[in-house]
Amino acid sequence: MDDTFFMREALYQAEAAGCLGEVPVGAIVVRKGEIVGRGFNAPIGEQDPTAHAEIAALRDAARNLGNYRLPDCELFVTLEPCAMCAGAILHARIARVVYGARDPKTGAHGSILDLFAESRLNHHTVVTGGVLAEPCGRLLRDFFAERRQQRLRERPQIKFILIGRGYCHLCDDMTEALTPLLLEYGATLEVLDVDADNVLLEKYDERVPVLLLGDREGVEICHYFLDEPKVRAVLAQIR
Ligand SMILES: [Zn+2]
Repeated sequence: MDDTFFMREALYQAEAAGCLGEVPVGAIVVRKGEIVGRGFNAPIGEQDPTAHAEIAALRDAARNLGNYRLPDCELFVTLEPCAMCAGAILHARIARVVYGARDPKTGAHGSILDLFAESRLNHHTVVTGGVLAEPCGRLLRDFFAERRQQRLRERPQIKFILIGRGYCHLCDDMTEALTPLLLEYGATLEVLDVDADNVLLEKYDERVPVLLLGDREGVEICHYFLDEPKVRAVLAQIR
């Protein structure tokens, strides 16, 4: 069986992590062609910053084999190991590491630093990177893209209420000036003619985050809309 066969097994573990809302990274430990340990990334669910896929797979294998050292084992992981996991792999005396995608943020096989090349630490472990790198990386990209979308969907709806005395020219000017911001923040705009009607103000104040713009007495924040940095500062507080 070649490396891609076992990397697919690690990918199944990564998918399991993704289904639980964890960053999808999976790992397996193989000894003489047999899977002896499995693990996936679960720091949120486990409330454990060390609960990376490699650590989980190493623990599983060590328990199954009854040995804290795994000298004739290979570890397959979908993402380049971080410094913590590289340390654990070296402590376990893993013979060979095979990984999928590179990790430009925390990778410890050359992306950030190379602990495996440090001869004062490592006499045991050889490393092969880039096995099924595309599907391993795509799983992560899709996960983060979906999470970004989710956050956008969950963002509170912002409603601008434009208050005019009659439909004054100020409202028209402001509507035009606001359009790019409305698009950027996914906000809606409502134009109200609330001449002498304070009830409407109270009603909207209660229910939705509102930026009011008006030319009537007592509503003094129309300058927010003329001053983009100030509008952004207000929006940042709402978000
Ligand atoms: Zn790690």
